[in-house]
Amino acid sequence: MKIVLENLTKIFPAMGKKGGPDVVAVDHFDLTIPDGKLVGLLGPSGCGKSTALYLICGLQKPTKGRIYFGDDDVTDLPTENRGVGLVFQNYALYPHMTALQNILFPLQNLKGRDKLSKEEMNKRAVEAAKLVQIERLLERKPSEMSGGQQQRVAIARALVKMPKVLLLDEPLSNLDARLRLQTREEIRRIQRETGITTIFVTHDQEEAMSISDLIVVMKSGAINQVGKPQDVYDDPANQFVAQFLGTPQINMFSGRIDNGSLYIGPEKVMDISCECDRTEVTVGVRPEGFEVDPNGRLTCDLRNIEVMGRDISIVSTNEASQAEQIRSIVNSDMDYGAIKDKVRFRLKPHKVFIFKPDTGERIRFTETEK
Ligand code: ATP
Repeated sequence: MKIVLENLTKIFPAMGKKGGPDVVAVDHFDLTIPDGKLVGLLGPSGCGKSTALYLICGLQKPTKGRIYFGDDDVTDLPTENRGVGLVFQNYALYPHMTALQNILFPLQNLKGRDKLSKEEMNKRAVEAAKLVQIERLLERKPSEMSGGQQQRVAIARALVKMPKVLLLDEPLSNLDARLRLQTREEIRRIQRETGITTIFVTHDQEEAMSISDLIVVMKSGAINQVGKPQDVYDDPANQFVAQFLGTPQINMFSGRIDNGSLYIGPEKVMDISCECDRTEVTVGVRPEGFEVDPNGRLTCDLRNIEVMGRDISIVSTNEASQAEQIRSIVNSDMDYGAIKDKVRFRLKPHKVFIFKPDTGERIRFTETEK
């Protein structure tokens, strides 16, 4: 099921006389979610991810804009008629019911033409349980299951009505690190097997990047960028997106473009061609964008070398760095014992991004040889 959001906006009005300004939780969203894809809605806390999800499922009404499922305008349709399955962060299972009873529950509430026979309900519940691999736990109550198993029951409960759209709101937040990894792989597998268009809300960029076909990066209610995870990482639309994606974070420096050269502090680090000249800029360098080179043009003071097995992390400082430390990741094959007080880096141009300091807008450039 393709989903189209058209100029979707949700404003929460200020409460009372001293309630402060209105909150624009979702700000003129224009987005097409292709049929059968898993889309990660990603952004910092409070950026409007959950509100966007609630608008799509009909738990909240938009202030403006339309929502289409396929060719149907569902903007005014109640949640129960939209054919959506919902999974929340707290699995919200009924504690006194077994896993099977929890999964059966949405089917028992079907009325009229949709009403199913007992056999049909059981068949569907067992099928959903098999899909999430909990068919052996059906007689257990939630208190007798791990967090990951409970979350699978919640997913089976959302799937049992055969929804056209599956909406997941931070479904992994309550799980420990190992279970998070395992369950996110499970969600990916279930989505692939069922082909249900799925929207997955998270503030965890690594989580979104690892399982999504497409990510939507949000800031203050607005979409900043939509694309395949790798494309967005490699080609961020602005400084916010560049800083939001990637662990360790991109390193930011105060710099300058002058006469076709890019400077970080006083050092000329690259010759470039771009539309701007003689201007202050912010320079972002991904951790993997540094190469240790005795003739490198960026000189930093070495703080520490952290050995991580396959890679090493060089921690250094530079007056122009906007953070206390610069973190660069290099291959552990290099002879890092030779690095003493100063470390010189050559920058890989495709890992360097330049932004306007006031707006964070991207300044595109190409490296030139002088
Ligand atoms: P988190 O990751 O912390 O859950 P989020 O990105 O999902 O955050 P939302 O919960 O959608 O963000 O909230 C977006 C903004 O709308 C926030 O500023 C929030 O305070 C505000 N907001 C959300 N629900 C309401 C409401 N019912 N009434 C008033 N303001 C609200």
